[in-house]
Amino acid sequence: ATEPLALLETLAASAGDVVRPDDSTPRAVRRVGVIGGGTAGYLTALALKAKRPWLDVTLVESPQIPIIGVGEATVTYMTLFLHHYLGIDAEELYRRVRPTWKVGIRFDWGPHPDGFMGPFDWSSDNVGIQGAIAATGTINGATLGSALMMADKAAVYRTGDSPTSLMKYVPFAYHLDNGLLVSYLTELARRRGVHHIDATIADVVLDGPEWVDHLRTSDGRDLGFDLYVDCTGFRSQLLGKALKTPYLPYSGTLFTDSAVTGNVDHHGDIKPYTQATTMNAGWCWRIPTRDSDHRGYVYSSAAISDEEAAEELAARFPGISEPRVVRFRSGRHEKAWRGNVMGIGNSYGFVEPLESTGLMMIGIEIQTLVSCLPASWDGPQVRDTVNTALGQQWDAIRWLLGLHYRFNTRLDTKFWQECRNSADVSGFQPLLDVYAGGAPLSRRNAFVRDMLDRVTPTFFGLYGIDYLLLGQQVPTRMLPMDEPPAAWQARRRAADALVRAALPTGEALAVYDAHPELHRQLLQDEDSWAGTRIAERLGML
Ligand code: FAD
Repeated sequence: ATEPLALLETLAASAGDVVRPDDSTPRAVRRVGVIGGGTAGYLTALALKAKRPWLDVTLVESPQIPIIGVGEATVTYMTLFLHHYLGIDAEELYRRVRPTWKVGIRFDWGPHPDGFMGPFDWSSDNVGIQGAIAATGTINGATLGSALMMADKAAVYRTGDSPTSLMKYVPFAYHLDNGLLVSYLTELARRRGVHHIDATIADVVLDGPEWVDHLRTSDGRDLGFDLYVDCTGFRSQLLGKALKTPYLPYSGTLFTDSAVTGNVDHHGDIKPYTQATTMNAGWCWRIPTRDSDHRGYVYSSAAISDEEAAEELAARFPGISEPRVVRFRSGRHEKAWRGNVMGIGNSYGFVEPLESTGLMMIGIEIQTLVSCLPASWDGPQVRDTVNTALGQQWDAIRWLLGLHYRFNTRLDTKFWQECRNSADVSGFQPLLDVYAGGAPLSRRNAFVRDMLDRVTPTFFGLYGIDYLLLGQQVPTRMLPMDEPPAAWQARRRAADALVRAALPTGEALAVYDAHPELHRQLLQDEDSWAGTRIAERLGML
């Protein structure tokens, strides 16, 4: 079966600003080889086919080299990317991949025993972060999302015969079981006309320093394309190895390089968040799927051995399944796009999943490629702009993650002492200086906020920085509240009432499975955070 033609035509309509090559176009870009069949490869192939259906897209993957097989917590951007940009049907995704919802990240981090919630609705400040700190000493409960996280609930209600959902006002991301996701994307790519070749690339034959002429497979075939998208993961077969693009490590900020993973029964208790728990030499994620909690201890192999990490994980989470060790490196290549090669996914850049940014950066890299791909290699090119923009986004994530290491006082092990003493956060120093003089940053006057945005572009905005710094109780001078405490208390009572009546997350997911109209409400309503209005603003439609 193939996808209905009408769907692909609607998706392609959004590529209106793109010139399509015709028979007379010299050096036309028509044949694209996507090398690699992990999440990066399949999402790239699907996007190219959806937005530029005239391209002839071939995905090459090695039967000998497995995919990384982790990468399951996302951010809200991905919900829009999957449904609006790729046009993936929500009912089908829920049936095949069985996602769970993530309203934010719960950090077991910083001095307070409850840690802190990092909800996705942080920038709405809908209950109030200053009031929360004044009343409770923590930022928790500062938004409806945060209050739902603390109660393990989702904003779905049983009301008479049909349910009511307020999830269109509570931004959420998906937890996606990696095995289910990749096998679903594989099938979807086939249905949408992506060609598939099982082969291992043994040699990349160059024609000049920045141009790939063709690829040679280990069984002696030659494969030639107009554009090569390197999705070969950490191997970076084209961008790194063949083109020798310099690599910029983030090792001065991020000291971890390994993860040990396993699954633990959750007995039906599905949390509405990703959890990040401080461990002796790093931290551990909890990613709830429908069947179990997936756990992964991200650690520095210089601080502890694989065996010690597995033991600490098993002692902390009894009953965890057989451990599996994954290695990684944090950093990015100096450039993503050189000549006729663009790196997407781990082949270009990677940071540990502390803020679940992996799939989001893949989505952004894909949107960048699709939007900037020329019809022909003759004429103006925007590679330098693309490389600067993507590099800046990756570096902002580096500094953001650095704040988690520099200021976490939860444990006093040698690893954490070293992080507090030497994790490089210099890229965000201007923000830290201004924060020390008055917080929340998001409440500073418009002039100061604008100045900070220009000096230090962050990824998640000043609200995100506030959550991290105030959540970890980094010293500052709190700005006075600009409302009486009673106003904050009234909003808090309203949020509490909404949370009390809400369903536990597992039950709320079951309601969505039984009522597909709720997906339509989320993805189409004008006032939804995931509606077409927002998708349009993100350049997805
Ligand atoms: P891979 O999955 O490694 O795929 C590489 C592909 O290239 C494979 O198909 C392989 O066969 C092919 N290949 C390689 N060499 C050749 C060759 N010579 N010839 C032919 N084919 C070749 N992201 C998130 O968003 N959220 C998370 O919670 C998250 N957690 C993570 C936890 C860890 C420990 C790690 C390491 C990553 C995590 N990520 C997360 C990131 C995410 O997993 C990856 O970014 C994502 O899966 C993309 O991987 P990839 O497709 O680039 O590479």
